[in-house]
Amino acid sequence: MTTERTHRRYREAKARLFARARATGAACHLCGKPIDWDADPNSNLAPSADHLDAVATSGPNGLHGKLQVAHRICNSRRGKKTVEEYLAGQTSSEATPTLVWDFR
Ligand SMILES: [Zn+2]
Repeated sequence: MTTERTHRRYREAKARLFARARATGAACHLCGKPIDWDADPNSNLAPSADHLDAVATSGPNGLHGKLQVAHRICNSRRGKKTVEEYLAGQTSSEATPTLVWDFR
């Protein structure tokens, strides 16, 4: 079960991550493309905090673990795969985004 305190710590960690990533111009760690910091928070290209260890997102320590910035859509496509598994699957056409990365 997740406590309110854990949620607060997670939000703070996420805010720090985003601030640092934005300041350094960090790209999505899954696809390497730039993050659109001004994107609608609900859009696919909006930043999200991706857990490096996807398994850490479940269970009592659900909100712990290392975070890295990724597009919402990349984060959701990765799901419970490890980063290595996800990147290994990137050669399939399904996993290769095209229009999604048109930032104009
Ligand atoms: Zn991405």
